Amino acid sequence: MFDKILIANRGEIALRVIRACREMGIASVAVHSTADSDAMHVRMADESVCIGPNSSAESYLSIPALVAACEITGAQAIHPGYGFLSENATFVQVLEDHGITFIGPSAAHIRIMGDKITAKDTAMKLGIPVVPGSAGGVPDVESAKKTAAEIGYPVIIKATAGGGGRGMKVALDAEGLEIAFRTARAEAKAAFGNDEVYMEKYLQKPRHIEIQVFGDGKGRAVHLGERDCSLQRRHQKVFEEAPGPCITPEQRARIGKICADAMAELKYSGAGTIEFLYEDGEFYFIEMNTRLQVEHPVTEAIFGVDLVREQIRVAAGLPMEFEQDKLTIRGAAIEVRINAEKLPNFSPCPGKITQYHAPGGLGVRMDSALYDGYKIPPYYDSLIGKLIVFGRDRPEALARLSRALGELIVDGVDTTVPLFNALLAEPDIQAGDYSIHWLEKWLAKTYG
Ligand code: ADP
Repeated sequence: MFDKILIANRGEIALRVIRACREMGIASVAVHSTADSDAMHVRMADESVCIGPNSSAESYLSIPALVAACEITGAQAIHPGYGFLSENATFVQVLEDHGITFIGPSAAHIRIMGDKITAKDTAMKLGIPVVPGSAGGVPDVESAKKTAAEIGYPVIIKATAGGGGRGMKVALDAEGLEIAFRTARAEAKAAFGNDEVYMEKYLQKPRHIEIQVFGDGKGRAVHLGERDCSLQRRHQKVFEEAPGPCITPEQRARIGKICADAMAELKYSGAGTIEFLYEDGEFYFIEMNTRLQVEHPVTEAIFGVDLVREQIRVAAGLPMEFEQDKLTIRGAAIEVRINAEKLPNFSPCPGKITQYHAPGGLGVRMDSALYDGYKIPPYYDSLIGKLIVFGRDRPEALARLSRALGELIVDGVDTTVPLFNALLAEPDIQAGDYSIHWLEKWLAKTYG
């Protein structure tokens, strides 16, 4: 086992990893930008290293600074969290060259899943069902029109290098396609420096269902059921739950086995998430995330497992403790993402926290790096906390969420808490009856 792990991240996820390290008796090293000198992860880690100025590009994304921080502190492994360098194959390669263990999959696995066209191709070869669409990239408007005519409108144009919902445009007909194609390409170029796009059939009322997988890197892999992350704004998740309210045990077992078998065949190592759109009982692969997800705690809650601990164990070469037939679901869990954002436009709202009080009690987990007097810097994303509740069943989890939101105090900045209070009053949310378009429609209706 490692003696010391460096966490190449900030905020709540850095704390999440530090906590796992501490429970495992492993020393932790925090890294931070100058803007984050007073951040909670820096206070909570055993050691910390300043790796650069405010901008992420020069700090949290700086590979030389991270390698140097490992060398200075003697950290043997890096946990990347999510975002930043967590899905960067070059980073993994550089770490390998320096004899530092990356807590995650191999560079090769990150590469095949990082490029969405290759990922879809790989998924198909592994027997995972995919959304009908173009075979590979779509080079020009003419071939876009040809493919769209084959698969039928509406279609969605997506960036090959996409992420965070950027570079995606829907076309309802041939006329709209030309504009959608050009804007998606321009957006992709601006956001990812790569203007390659591909096409998929646009599903009308799907749910976003993702399967948590875990592999030992030697050919054994398991699944830990699904999460329903259909409540999204601009393709960004805001509310996640497990198990999925519409998924039957038979469907879970079937798609779960397909995913676990695929990961076993790849000899995938560590945690991963295979994302699907789900409509009328069918699953359609959209992408795989080769890392820990923001919403992993809902899976931890219903399976009673620690995914980060298992990531660390497997990266250290220990046998994977998860066994498929021992992984059973108990109860229901919900996570809401608390962002420092002002409604109704969700505009970022950095600033000083004048008072913070975390909810507690049975079945409540608050993952947050906030504290009284903390100044949220304007340079990073606006997620300031995740409230996770767990109950014996979904109605109990919903009641608990309402209770816990009532206890939470975050003063000094606007947050997305009022959104969740309002959502809980909605019959569709109470019934678990929502698709990926539900939230956008509700926001338009509620806030105009
Ligand atoms: P990103 O990596 O940018 O998050 P994804 O491929 O995971 O992109 O898609 C994000 C979201 O966009 C999905 O959860 C879904 O809401 C929507 N989406 C993606 N592909 C389709 C599709 N073919 N039909 C309908 N909605 C889609």
